[in-house]
Amino acid sequence: MRIGAFARAKCRLVCGLLFLVLLMSACSSISNSDKGVHGVDEQNLSRIAVSVPGGASFPVYAKKTKFGFVMEGDIVFPFGATEPMGLGVHASNYYWIGYWPNGVLIYDFDPELPDEHRNLFLSAAKHIEELAGIKFKQRTTEEVYLEVFLDDDTSTCWSYLGYGYSPSRLDLYCGSDGLPNLGVAVHEIMHALGMGHEHTRPDRDKYVTIYWENINKEQAHNFYKRGFRMTPFGDYDYYSVMHYNAYAFSINGEPTIVPKFVGLDEIGQREGLSSGDISALEKAYSLPWISVPSWHLWARVGGYPYIFEAELRNVGAVDVVVEPSRFDGWIRSVRVESDENEVISSGDEAVLLMEVEPCADPGFYPASLSLSAQGNGKEQTFTYVFTRACFAEDSDVVVDLAPQGDDLWLVSFASWSDSVNFAVSATVDGAQVQVEPERINLEDFYAFIESFVLEVPGSDSADEVCVTITPLDVEGVNPGTACYQR
Ligand SMILES: [Zn+2]
Repeated sequence: MRIGAFARAKCRLVCGLLFLVLLMSACSSISNSDKGVHGVDEQNLSRIAVSVPGGASFPVYAKKTKFGFVMEGDIVFPFGATEPMGLGVHASNYYWIGYWPNGVLIYDFDPELPDEHRNLFLSAAKHIEELAGIKFKQRTTEEVYLEVFLDDDTSTCWSYLGYGYSPSRLDLYCGSDGLPNLGVAVHEIMHALGMGHEHTRPDRDKYVTIYWENINKEQAHNFYKRGFRMTPFGDYDYYSVMHYNAYAFSINGEPTIVPKFVGLDEIGQREGLSSGDISALEKAYSLPWISVPSWHLWARVGGYPYIFEAELRNVGAVDVVVEPSRFDGWIRSVRVESDENEVISSGDEAVLLMEVEPCADPGFYPASLSLSAQGNGKEQTFTYVFTRACFAEDSDVVVDLAPQGDDLWLVSFASWSDSVNFAVSATVDGAQVQVEPERINLEDFYAFIESFVLEVPGSDSADEVCVTITPLDVEGVNPGTACYQR
């Protein structure tokens, strides 16, 4: 098989790991400190892929409901726009978070939407328009728009996140009488404009303490810190209309979010935009933003340089010109191909063409690429790190080993087969030993780990430790082995 496979369909089934996901260099994929340590509800969650402005794509935890995958209580990702991810592997379908082209949100009302809800939406829109300069326009023939409607459940209002779906939806049915106040409507429209919650920012632990013991276990995922920057934020903003209140999802009446520098009752206002919200919107809607979703580079050792194509989307509200500013590793050259004169219009896509070196040796190899996006007289540079899996000529699995101490190893692997089950075995100084676990089933694992920890008895002081991973479901597929030498 020749090199250059992009094998998206394959990627869904095979295992992978963080290494295979394209990541922004400055970010980790998801917060390790939060997950799995609070006895919470991971079993009922899906990990889905979103592509964020300025970044690549990242996993988020969400609950499957009638309307789609729900994250953090009121952000909905529709079915079909994204899909669950496997063991660290990127899904082939991700939700793009974009800002509305030219800062104009196109909306329409469900024909059955009552007048008082129409008026509420229009008042909230006016509030945002007056304070932050976003424009709102009722739909005539536009293809992409936001439909305002009422679902059948008053427990929460919700919205899709950002621009890009046809139609996006925003539900205004919540509160005791099914008609929320202005601040709640503003909050939901902020989601529709692409803004996330304040309390799940990557830097939130410096500003608030999360009391996991007071949180309804079923709802703990609503407090997971995102590993990435979703909103172009400034300072942490306790007064943001996007901040949850201190008692959100409390199971015992005790606070769940305790601010470190202000009073309990100062967080979670639903009056309207704070000055931080206004400046976040201004940054979002005036700066150039692009996204390059995750993709995989899988290649056999040997061969010739080849061209790899990736999508690049202008997810900002302004037209941009994108140029590669720096690259390294196995990337030889980079070109951006757009339809019109190098300009990528707001909401449009272009193609990123990369000429890459052939694989020299089996293993995982990183390379980084910086792209400069210019538009509206401003410039932002985004850096992406890609890791390529290089497969030996006679092997269908790439394995990587990192010692963790106490006979424990962090094993990462990628497989070129469609196998879901894998046998794990190891040798210590040439002698076969019993390991734990002996088998990996990707379906059991998926959603909660990027790679797995293996216990190899007697390996701590050994000269050589080798781990072999064998695909079990497909005939004629060769295992992969990695050895670690001291
Ligand atoms: Zn929200």
